[in-house]
Amino acid sequence: MAKTLKYDVVIVGLGPAGSSLAYFLKDSGLKVAGIDLVDWDGLWGKPCGDAIGEHHFDETGLPKPEGEAMRNRVVGIDVYSPREDVKLRVKGYGYIIDRNAYGRGLVKAAMDKGVDVWLKTFVKRPLIEDGRLIGVEARGPNGEDLVFRGKVTVDATGTSSVIRRRLPREWPVNEKLKPTDANIAYRKIVDLDHEIEDYQYIRIYVNMSIAPGGYWWFFPEGPTSVNVGLGVQGGRGYPSPKQIFEEKLANRPELKGIVRVKADAGAMVPTRRPANTLAWDGFIGIGDNGFTVNPVHGGGMGYAMVAAKYASQAIVEAFEAGDFSRYGPLWKTNTLYMRSIGARQAALDIFRIYLQTLTDEEIEWGLKNGVVKADDAYVISSEGELKANLSVLDTAKVLARMLKRPSMLLQLRTVGNYMKKAKNLYLSYPESPDKLGEWVSSVEELYKEFKGKLGIDW
Ligand SMILES: Cc1cc2nc3c(=O)[nH]c(=O)nc-3n(C[C@H](O)[C@H](O)[C@H](O)COP(=O)(O)OP(=O)(O)OC[C@H]3O[C@@H](n4cnc5c(N)ncnc54)[C@H](O)[C@@H]3O)c2cc1C
Repeated sequence: MAKTLKYDVVIVGLGPAGSSLAYFLKDSGLKVAGIDLVDWDGLWGKPCGDAIGEHHFDETGLPKPEGEAMRNRVVGIDVYSPREDVKLRVKGYGYIIDRNAYGRGLVKAAMDKGVDVWLKTFVKRPLIEDGRLIGVEARGPNGEDLVFRGKVTVDATGTSSVIRRRLPREWPVNEKLKPTDANIAYRKIVDLDHEIEDYQYIRIYVNMSIAPGGYWWFFPEGPTSVNVGLGVQGGRGYPSPKQIFEEKLANRPELKGIVRVKADAGAMVPTRRPANTLAWDGFIGIGDNGFTVNPVHGGGMGYAMVAAKYASQAIVEAFEAGDFSRYGPLWKTNTLYMRSIGARQAALDIFRIYLQTLTDEEIEWGLKNGVVKADDAYVISSEGELKANLSVLDTAKVLARMLKRPSMLLQLRTVGNYMKKAKNLYLSYPESPDKLGEWVSSVEELYKEFKGKLGIDW
């Protein structure tokens, strides 16, 4: 006989999404459980590049990394062309964090304010009674059967999607991740026997012959330690990123003088627009689980934190209203997210799809000829618009060069156009779940039309 534990909110998964939510709810007066299968040292253990922009902390009010949680202060990003002939230095402050240390800090702050944290507790499945989600079934730290009941159940289990994918098929929240909408990524963290040049700049190398449909990175964690890895688009039959790492990166000059390998692992990351809905009756799914990730660079920690912030506001309002249905305040998780960062994410998804069609030669040419400049790269990644490119295209010099590549010019105009359309569609995310089906059809039609124009069949 399973032991039943009653909570207001049950959060499954204490990675960036779940622990941020627990942190935001810590002063709400609600009875909150946070559950994870890992132990204290394993919190936030998913392999990662560990890079996060400073603006995410400003946007959410989460504590900035400091002490052992901060490994390196980043002051900019160097983006390299395929032949490495062009280097764009993009401004932007951020951090390389010690994920475990930062995550433990958030979880501890939540526990100190009364959030119940259940570690080494494996959630098996959602619990549905009379067609309603009422919590989860789990196996506790001593192998005991547990039932966690809650008015709101949150799936923050990342790509394992322990609850979302087991919800009834007819619930629109049960949405699968297409392999081509994800990157398979792999990284090593190593100590070097020398000081890294400009170690406060993280480096991104766009090179389709090394990282097809993604990029490879070199993120210094400090003067003599670095996180190096790559992401490869899924579903296209490319070799595994680990294999590519050993064949094409391990002997790079940047990796000469390794004295110690500190970590070595890979995982999947969604690289698409947000899930069609982050909320349903008694349910919220955020973080990798709700595909709240930047589609172009695959950064998901900041987006998970923002999604958690909006989810916490919706949850508090749902308890004030005593309404946990999709027609109540929980729906606000969607409207708040989709009409802000989600709209940017949708536009960036169009840009990501376009990037995945380009050859190294085209990327080299575009970067060399100023089609994208450093400031544009910043605008594209932070605003999700191609306005920078379009304004660049309007300058006579670049336009004259682009006329030598009429197909690329046309494509770029199409991309800019569809980025705007996608953004507008997300800005008009439906106020009511009853309109969700109609809205999803428009989104699917838009992306299909865009892929058709670019001749993409995946
Ligand atoms: C190699 C790589 C590099 C990356 N680099 C970056 C980067 O530099 N910057 C960035 O911002 N993002 C990066 N990302 C993406 C980032 O790691 C994720 O977007 C982020 O971790 C998502 O957070 P999350 O909380 O949604 O999920 P997760 O971090 O996956 O956390 C999910 C939690 O749920 C728990 N869980 C799962 N199943 C169960 C279960 N059955 N019962 C109980 N608990 C369960 C897990 O133990 C885990 O703690 C990278 C990803 C990869 C793979």
